[in-house]
Amino acid sequence: IRNRKLVVQVIPFENRRQILVTHDATETERLEAMRRDFIANASHELRTPLTVIVGFLEIAMADPGMMEATRVAHLKLMTEQGQRMQRLIEDMLTLSRLESTEFPLKRERVDVRALVEQVAEDARALSGGRHEIEFSVEGPDVMGSLDELRSAFGNLATNAVRYTPEGGRILLSWTRGPNDLRFAVADTGIGIDEQHISRLTERFYRVDKSRSRETQGTGLGLAIVKHVLLRHGGKLTIRSEAGKGSVFTASLPNTSLPG
Ligand code: ADP
Repeated sequence: IRNRKLVVQVIPFENRRQILVTHDATETERLEAMRRDFIANASHELRTPLTVIVGFLEIAMADPGMMEATRVAHLKLMTEQGQRMQRLIEDMLTLSRLESTEFPLKRERVDVRALVEQVAEDARALSGGRHEIEFSVEGPDVMGSLDELRSAFGNLATNAVRYTPEGGRILLSWTRGPNDLRFAVADTGIGIDEQHISRLTERFYRVDKSRSRETQGTGLGLAIVKHVLLRHGGKLTIRSEAGKGSVFTASLPNTSLPG
């Protein structure tokens, strides 16, 4: 009973007797608090870039003769902030689709080799040669949603690039474990302190907000990964050591093997 919120209702019954009805509202309240937090966080995340855009527009209106170089610099900043809002809204829509029962999972045979190759190629493009990025594919194909798995695997690979300093190594691998199939991303990056690990898949949770923004993060990537895996009956495991690096493992159940 401790730490739980019980709702007690007294209902009059015949002969001056009463019925006592109790129900546990802890879970409902927790979900309600999460929803409130999400809206507050999302509004804040959208307001920040919008403030920058409106600020520069006001400057431009007040100063019609602004120097060309200044105008171009302002337009560049406004474009970046607009793009940040676009990424946020895309990720928010993706998350809400993943959670909605209106869009049940559509499974198809996924060519995992092609998928991992593509994810590695995208990671190399993002890295621009600053990291050594390798991949290996030993496991079989799976039945799943190609789009969703691409987004989950892609998010993990993108994070490895973002949170690994220049010269670091990143290894993507697809293997078959005793009871599951695993996509693992190992990096030699900044790592994560123990106390943060269990909270990383929460929406907008970041170890270092300014670093995440600098690297174009929305703070929703791992929440998306978690939901994709949940829909596929799988899970995300995180092992990390601050200053050394991390291993993010997306595991899918053996039941997703093609029949
Ligand atoms: P973001 O858009 O901020 O990267 P994510 O949900 O993808 O949001 O990740 C949440 C946080 O987890 C990040 O802000 C970062 O602090 C931490 N993180 C994720 N991946 C890694 C990694 N490979 N190495 C170190 N920290 C990571």
